[in-house]
Amino acid sequence: MQAFVYNAQAARVLFGAGTLAQVEPEAQLLNMQRALVLCTPEQTAGAQRVAVLLGGKAIGVYGKAVMHVPIEAARAACDEARRLKADGLVAFGGGSTTGLAKAIALETGLPILAIPTSYAGSEMTSIYGITDGGIKKTGKDPKVLPRTVIYDPELTMSLPLGLSITSGMNALAHAAEGLYAQDRNPMTRLMAMEGIASLAVALPLVRTTSDHIEGRALALYGAWLCGSVLGSVGMALHHKLCHTLGGSFNLPHAEVHTVVLPHALAFNASAAAQAMADLAQSLRVSNGPLGVYLLAKNNGAAVALKDIGMKASDLDPAADLAVRQPYWNPRPFGPAQRDEIRELLQRAFDGDPPQYS
Ligand code: NAD
Repeated sequence: MQAFVYNAQAARVLFGAGTLAQVEPEAQLLNMQRALVLCTPEQTAGAQRVAVLLGGKAIGVYGKAVMHVPIEAARAACDEARRLKADGLVAFGGGSTTGLAKAIALETGLPILAIPTSYAGSEMTSIYGITDGGIKKTGKDPKVLPRTVIYDPELTMSLPLGLSITSGMNALAHAAEGLYAQDRNPMTRLMAMEGIASLAVALPLVRTTSDHIEGRALALYGAWLCGSVLGSVGMALHHKLCHTLGGSFNLPHAEVHTVVLPHALAFNASAAAQAMADLAQSLRVSNGPLGVYLLAKNNGAAVALKDIGMKASDLDPAADLAVRQPYWNPRPFGPAQRDEIRELLQRAFDGDPPQYS
């Protein structure tokens, strides 16, 4: 066995249906007496319920989280937290809400208690992203890692079916790329394989019995593990492509992950044999990238970039941008592989099954 470094994430995790009821004692453990509850405008009712459960420990609900954390939104939220003399942040929602909490924590050092309601996984990472002038800048800071996470599957029952599938595929992408990460280790492999296996079982269950807690709980469990992988190791080609497509062409986050993942994995297959074997084993299929493609397609997700808002005329600029400042990847990609990346994007655009070459 090779030597490795494993950094466990510091977060305390409560998992299970009904665990939201623990939010007040959990806030107490973090010494929060004036917690500001954050959410998107659409999730205000749920956030207000959290504030009620927090009792005297909540100083308000701030319902202005939006996609991609624009810097103006981050500044306004920081001002509000300071004005209210908040001593902690409770992030109730998906990755956008957790992202807003992280932006405030970065400036103020306030602790975050996260209550995820999607499968994005941001609550398990010290990665933050802020969009300034149309460009999303990401960074890492231990200050933004939530201290406590409450995973209550009951809160995911209202996640629309389409978003449940694509959000689950977004989670799966973290684990799939974690399997071949440069800094992977036996712990992240365990988490990645268990996370992928859980989602592979959970997503069809969510589709067929979306009002049933068991599928939802398994999906959230898988998302937690996949998010933990994202928080522990570096990502590669797939995340670079999604960052480019989401950031520069304004494509929806979870959907773009869903479409691109099988193709990025197929591109890397020849350079990541063990990861492909682990992926196939976790999915219980013989071909991992194809298994990922079918998991999305058979559960009703769009598998073509043309179906999620991309224009054919954007393919060339996207390929040019993607190979600029490439991430580490098991199979090298950079300006010299521009045409191969263009071909990959074409397949993703058309919604073809992934192909090895
Ligand atoms: P999101 O947070 O934007 O949520 C999408 C929509 O679904 C929102 O309108 C939200 O209010 C709604 N929603 C969420 N949960 C719901 C529920 N249970 N019921 C009903 N509606 C619900 O989307 P997301 O996919 O969760 O997160 C995407 C964002 O997270 C992106 O900006 C991405 O970059 C970021 N992200 C960051 C990290 C990180 O480590 N920093 C990791 C993953 C994702």
